[in-house]
Amino acid sequence: MGEYSLKNKVYIGLGSNVGNKSENIHKALKLMAEIKGVKINKLSSLYKTAPWGRTDQDDFINQVIEIETELSAIDLLHDLQNIEIKLGRQRNGKWSPRTIDLDVLLYGEETIDLEELKVPHPYFAERLFVLIPLAEINPGLGLPDGTKIEEVLTRARARFEGKGIIKL
Ligand code: ADP
Ligand code: MG
Repeated sequence: MGEYSLKNKVYIGLGSNVGNKSENIHKALKLMAEIKGVKINKLSSLYKTAPWGRTDQDDFINQVIEIETELSAIDLLHDLQNIEIKLGRQRNGKWSPRTIDLDVLLYGEETIDLEELKVPHPYFAERLFVLIPLAEINPGLGLPDGTKIEEVLTRARARFEGKGIIKL
């Protein structure tokens, strides 16, 4: 409880809606596995999801993974951004099409509120394509505010009726 721990359990959201989407996800996983100080613990299923925020674009493939890391949250973010660049992501503005999007969803039980890094990820509770795969790999997960993933998911399902997401 709250003691310093060397290894933090971290959840990363992966998304792709340009090119060969599942191959982009696969390549990103391989590159993440090669980051020093990162161990991949669990992978969710892949999900096909309707675009969120800006709906005039192709469907996404999304996945969530659990890793253990010794890296600080910021160092991890920068490594993930390097992978996005390596896989040819162009930044065309908020919620626009992307080869690969890698988001830090949760970093242990920490709450982070920096300009370049907000954890839990800002739209966390609004995104079934995050909540469903997260609950798949860790149904008992507790969030920094003390709620449980299952409660947040139940509320989101009630609002969005589970629309726009298909497990592959
Ligand atoms: P989004 O993922 O919301 O569609 P982008 O991937 O284009 O948007 O990210 C925009 C900015 O979000 C990045 O420059 C990054 O610094 C910032 N950001 C803030 N919090 C996070 C987080 N938890 N994970 C990843 N990026 C984040
Ligand atoms: Mg992102």
